[in-house]
Amino acid sequence: MKDYYDILGVSKNSSLNDIKKAYRKLAIKYHPDKNPNNKIAEEKFKEAAEAYSVLSDSSKREKYDQFGFSEFNNDNNYYSKTNINVDDIFTNFGDIFNDEFEGFTEFNLNTNTKKKKKIKGNNLRIKIKLTLEEIYKGIEKKIKVKRMKVSPGIKYKNCPNCNGSGIITNISNTFLGKMQTTIQCTFCKGIGKIINFIPKNANYQGLVEKEEIIKIKIPSGVTEGIQLKINGKGNEAPYGGNPGDLIILINEIKHKIFKRKGKNIYYNLYLSIPEAILGTIKLVNYLENNKKQIKIKINSGTQSGKKIIFKGKGLPSINSYGYGDFIVNINIWIPKKINYEQKKFFKKIKNDKNFLPIKNIKNSFYNKFKKYF
Ligand SMILES: [Zn+2]
Repeated sequence: MKDYYDILGVSKNSSLNDIKKAYRKLAIKYHPDKNPNNKIAEEKFKEAAEAYSVLSDSSKREKYDQFGFSEFNNDNNYYSKTNINVDDIFTNFGDIFNDEFEGFTEFNLNTNTKKKKKIKGNNLRIKIKLTLEEIYKGIEKKIKVKRMKVSPGIKYKNCPNCNGSGIITNISNTFLGKMQTTIQCTFCKGIGKIINFIPKNANYQGLVEKEEIIKIKIPSGVTEGIQLKINGKGNEAPYGGNPGDLIILINEIKHKIFKRKGKNIYYNLYLSIPEAILGTIKLVNYLENNKKQIKIKINSGTQSGKKIIFKGKGLPSINSYGYGDFIVNINIWIPKKINYEQKKFFKKIKNDKNFLPIKNIKNSFYNKFKKYF
C-alpha cells in the first residue's frame, strides 16, 4: 500500500508549503533529464508527482487522510495510472520547478516561466452504454467522435513582442542590487508563436471539426459512472500543443434477468413445489454467451430462500484482484389455480408430519448447528 506522506518524506500534519518543498526536492533529484534511461528514477519521479497531486489538493488530501490509498484507486486517479507520461507532469506542475531553477525563489511570483508554454487541447467526453454481457466479457468498441483537428495549411510565425521566446526579461535596480525578472509575454500568452495564416473553414485557432472512428478497449468489470481516459484522443491543440484526452463515461444497461451488485451477479430462480421436493437440474443461460449454460443442481428438499453460490463466476474487480460470485436465490413458486385432483391430494397430505413447516425447519436448522450452541 502506498503512503503519499512517506513518498514525499513529510509528516501527516505538514503544511502545503512543506509538501511543495518536499516534492520539489524529489522532482529535481529524480528528474528524467538528470537520470537518463534510469527506470527507477523515473518511477520515483512519477510516484512523487502522484503523491503531490493528491496532497497539494486540499479536498483530495482530506479524502486521502480519511480513506487512505484505496479510495484513490477507486477514484480513477489520473496519477496512479501506470501509463502516465513525464511530459504530462510538466504540463500540470511545470511552474513548481521554474522558480527553483531561476534562483529568484523569494522574489518571483507566479508569472515566471522559463519554458515556452504548451497549449493542451480540450478534453472530449462521451457516454457509452454497455450491456451486462459486454461488461462481463470486456469489449472493444468503435465509436464515432467529432474532434477538432489542426487544419492542414495553417501557418505560424514568431511572436514579434517576445521574438518567439514566450517571455519578456526585465532587469531592474532594487535595494538588493540588480534583479532580473522574467514574465510571460502577454501578446502570445507565453507560447512564442502567433497564427500567420488560417486556412478556409478553420476556426480562429486554425482548427477544423473532423469525424473520426476511435477504437476503445473496455476492460471487463467496469461499473456505472466510471470514467476511462484515452490519452491524446481529445481535441488537438493549436501552436503545436498536445491534444486533449477522450474521457469515456460508462453507463450500464439494466439486465432483464440478472442483477448486478458490485462484483456479484444475482439471479432469482423459481422452482415448482415438486421440483423443490424431488430435486432437479436447472440450466441457465449465463452472461458468457448464449450457448454456454450454467447447470444448477437442486437437491431434494430444497428450501425457499436458499442461496446457491458459484464462486468466482461473477465479475472481475477493476480495482483489486479476484472475481465476484454468481449467486442463485431459490424461490418456490406457489400456484394460484389447481384442479380438483390436486386439491384432493394436498388436502390429504395437509396434516402429514412431513409437510408441517415450522417443526421441520426448526429441526433441520437446529440439528445442523446443534454443535455450535
Ligand atoms: Zn510573445
